[in-house]
Amino acid sequence: MVFSHGEEEKVDDVSSALDDLSKKWEIDPIVRDVHLGKRMDIQDYTIRINKVTYHIPFLSKSSLFLLWDCLWPDCHNCCDKQGRLPLTSRDIATISKHLGYDSQPSFLRNETYVATWDNESASDSNSHVITTLTMLNLKRRKSENEADNGHPISCRFLNECGACQLHPNKPGVCWLYPFFSWSQNEKNLVSVHTSFQLTGDCPGFYLSKNLDDIMPILVKYSEIIYNYTMNVNTTIREGFGKIDVIN
Ligand code: SF4
Ligand code: SF4
Repeated sequence: MVFSHGEEEKVDDVSSALDDLSKKWEIDPIVRDVHLGKRMDIQDYTIRINKVTYHIPFLSKSSLFLLWDCLWPDCHNCCDKQGRLPLTSRDIATISKHLGYDSQPSFLRNETYVATWDNESASDSNSHVITTLTMLNLKRRKSENEADNGHPISCRFLNECGACQLHPNKPGVCWLYPFFSWSQNEKNLVSVHTSFQLTGDCPGFYLSKNLDDIMPILVKYSEIIYNYTMNVNTTIREGFGKIDVIN
């Protein structure tokens, strides 16, 4: 496989994230290779649950699915390593209230900044959808600004016990992790898709011959993912964010 310069940097970031993870967790070498894009036999297995289409990596040579379960409270690595915390308009309403602001403009001025980034998602094995998103982001530390966009920073709302002080009003994107989602227009209807973020920051991935163990998680997350994706669409319609799609 030949990587472009930008892709090489991304692979280096994932590799060092996995090295960090390996200090505490045992990472299966196959799982590591999947994160690093080294497996050539990955197929996109799709399964629709409720109103969400999941894209699950399937390793055809070994007949194994890449699955996930959360290891919290033993792990809170995502709260130490999130690259950004984009906010939906619903998040803005709930978090500003949670933090005691009586006006949203002062919350936005003190606690957020605007950032732009690219999301690349495989809608099937042959096509890629690149979405450029511009959204308001919750500051993970008081001094955070645009220059920190995409860089791992330990979140100020994580307490010494590994719990989130905004819970249950934490940003929708925190509920979503380690999934990411996108919406597509299919026959003039909005269709919601999701897959795993493979950034090397989550030790919860494992391999399995079947989907039995993850099915309750997929059912539970279908509501979270659907609502989050619709909230992002509403946020953009309301002018709190912008999305450009390149097929
Ligand atoms: S990094 Fe993964 S396993 Fe750890 S708390 Fe986050 S989602 Fe759970
Ligand atoms: S807001 Fe809460 S859940 Fe989200 S990264 Fe911060 S501590 Fe973690």
